[in-house]
Amino acid sequence: MRKIAILGSTGSIGTQTLDVVRNNKDLEVVGISAGHNVAMLEEQVREFHPRLAVVYDPAAAEDLKARIYDTETTVLSGMEGLLELAAMPESEILVTAIVGMIGIRPTLAAIEAGKDIALANKETLVTAGHLIMPLAKEKNVNILPVDSEHSAIFQCLHGENRKEIHKLLITASGGPFRGRKTGQLADVRPEDALKHPNWDMGAKITIDSASLVNKGLEVMEAHWLFGVSLDQIEVVVQPQSIIHSMVEFEDGAVIAQLGTPDMRLPIQYALYYPEHRYLPGKRLDFSQITSIEIAKPDMDTFKGLPMAIEAARIGGSMPTVFNAANEEAVAMFLHKEIGFLDIYRLIREAMDAHQVIENPDLDTILEVEKVTRERVRANK
Ligand code: NDP
Repeated sequence: MRKIAILGSTGSIGTQTLDVVRNNKDLEVVGISAGHNVAMLEEQVREFHPRLAVVYDPAAAEDLKARIYDTETTVLSGMEGLLELAAMPESEILVTAIVGMIGIRPTLAAIEAGKDIALANKETLVTAGHLIMPLAKEKNVNILPVDSEHSAIFQCLHGENRKEIHKLLITASGGPFRGRKTGQLADVRPEDALKHPNWDMGAKITIDSASLVNKGLEVMEAHWLFGVSLDQIEVVVQPQSIIHSMVEFEDGAVIAQLGTPDMRLPIQYALYYPEHRYLPGKRLDFSQITSIEIAKPDMDTFKGLPMAIEAARIGGSMPTVFNAANEEAVAMFLHKEIGFLDIYRLIREAMDAHQVIENPDLDTILEVEKVTRERVRANK
């Protein structure tokens, strides 16, 4: 049995991870967690019988305790609970399916405890990649990408010499507003931005896909995961999401990974790496594909991508500012407190106001996050 714990088991990646567990009888879920969704956690406890269930919100944790008093599952709450789940002795792999940089501390705790990480929670790597990657190396822990683009690159690199990478080509669908210009984005509503053309994902990443912030976060994620320079990463728009990403090698050979937009594939590959196990579901039908479109990203309109690359080039604490400002701005956009273009404005203002701190430690990252969130709220 392969024993897994899931940070964020009630979300889009979390529930699809549980689907993968349902299809594979040699996976066992020993820990699950959520922010506050106790109704779904209760269902998951009754189906998967984990040893531990963590709810971040303490009142909701009390509610869950009452709901599952008749089970063997222990309920914990808060960051302490998430840290305990991350390092629980029974698990071998932690699936980081939590959203946002709140995942940093549990991810570090899991690596300290020697757990492999199936990493979906890109915000953690964007803000603390310089802490996570060396620690993973020291502890001999695998960081297995779940993000579809990074899984695609990981698959293309299997058996290859990473020193022969010339360039990584990360594909982007372009999101629901592809083809629009800035003037046509001023009045878009959350419900418009939440209509992703190809992928069904959580709200935050769907907005990030519409702003191309997500692609910027993915560039930073790829830089940390594969140890390549920012100059070796290129973003190409592939609106149908058939090509999930590509690697160009030194001799000009390009290897791509293709598939249907189904996150269960990268999740399952991370859990069984390097096996390509059977996965039920839709397959690409090449008799129906008449063309594969490729385009350049519109960096003038979708400023999330160029601003992310700028933050990555500056480095130090700047990616934390970029990410925290975006997290706060997206939450406000989803609550209809600001417009779509204000996301870019608030990130820009936060980056312009920040004095970069080189090589920030964990406390500094969390302090920069706090100050940035306050600044973004004040500037709204
Ligand atoms: P969702 O919003 O669907 O799910 C987020 C999960 O995190 C939920 O289980 C949520 O619990 C939990 N959570 C939120 N806040 C807290 C907290 N304070 N403490 C504990 N748990 C918390 O997000 P996604 O599944 O879409 O995304 C998760 C991560 O994966 C993100 O980093 C995203 O960028 C990345 N990713 C997602 C993809 C996708 O297809 N969805 C693709 C590639 C990457 P609750 O339900 O109670 O709120």
